[in-house]
Amino acid sequence: MLARPGFPSFDYVRADTPAQVVRLLEEHGEAARLLMGGTDLLVRMRDGVIRPRLVVDVKHLPGMDDVVCAAQGDLTAGAAVTMNQLAAHPDVRARYPGLAEAARSVASYQLRNRATLGGNLCNGSPAADTGPAVLVLEGRMILYGNHAPSPVREVPAGEFFLGPGRTALQAGELMVGVRFPPPPAGSVGRYLKLGRNRAGDLAVVGVAVLGFPDDTAPSGYRFRIGLASVSPTVIRAWEAEEVLAEGPPGEATFVRAAEQAMEAARPIDDVRASAAYRAAMVRNLTLRGLRQVWERLCEI
Ligand SMILES: Cc1cc2nc3c(=O)[nH]c(=O)nc-3n(C[C@H](O)[C@H](O)[C@H](O)COP(=O)(O)OP(=O)(O)OC[C@H]3O[C@@H](n4cnc5c(N)ncnc54)[C@H](O)[C@@H]3O)c2cc1C
Repeated sequence: MLARPGFPSFDYVRADTPAQVVRLLEEHGEAARLLMGGTDLLVRMRDGVIRPRLVVDVKHLPGMDDVVCAAQGDLTAGAAVTMNQLAAHPDVRARYPGLAEAARSVASYQLRNRATLGGNLCNGSPAADTGPAVLVLEGRMILYGNHAPSPVREVPAGEFFLGPGRTALQAGELMVGVRFPPPPAGSVGRYLKLGRNRAGDLAVVGVAVLGFPDDTAPSGYRFRIGLASVSPTVIRAWEAEEVLAEGPPGEATFVRAAEQAMEAARPIDDVRASAAYRAAMVRNLTLRGLRQVWERLCEI
């Protein structure tokens, strides 16, 4: 196989309704692929990794690029909201700063004008920058398909990522949005990313940290930690979170938690970094994230 065999020919449909998309997916099966920004899909097509006969453009579906705050405090981001929209949105920045930061960390400004939240998540990449942020915010993927009684079902982020390139999306389903519950009261969130350069690269390691006061935790605080690029999927570092709920917040507990996060990681060697370097960087970035979040929590 040539590295770049040239762009294949394919049929293109710009879909008007989610029901039309489901029909096309059911009719064409594996031969059809969904398109949003195309920054993953078109690269894979260009490189000959996949050769869909039909490309269904779903980014113009109604509501797909809306960010909506509901009265009960939820925020729903349409799947086609771009990284730049997400990073600049006042409600996202104010209430889910770690998500805004994750979106802003993706590649370059130009790419972020195309790359969407839904494309980032549906691609199922362990390196997806918004993945850890969506995990710690306990977002819910809104999926549309041929289901009864409702065509819409919600899948918690924690159950969505199944393996490299594999998600809980079923055949004939598309993602229409992500629903974020209100952030915990008094929470502070950050996303720290280490790439090979600052100009825009996939994460060598990405760490999302969310911290908030919680009377039910022995330490009086809970922290959630999400990791990218160090496991077959983006993951939560559950054991590290337990250490943080138990121990008094401060340097000694943060160091122990960062070590637990490193233990949770299952990194591999690849062109971007060795497994050993990635493991060490999980520890460093987690520790840095915890210190920064704690500093802000102490100011509130
Ligand atoms: C140069 C370069 C740099 C990059 N840097 C980063 C980076 O720093 N961080 C990062 O996380 N990613 C990075 N990426 C990867 C990519 O840009 C992101 O994953 C982006 O968010 C994908 O979104 P998209 O809208 O372009 O998706 P698309 O390419 O349109 O789609 C991605 C996948 O999702 C499927 N899909 C699309 N829409 C739906 C839907 N509604 N329902 C179900 N499935 C759907 C598609 O069929 C495809 O398989 C980079 C890519 C390039 C080319």
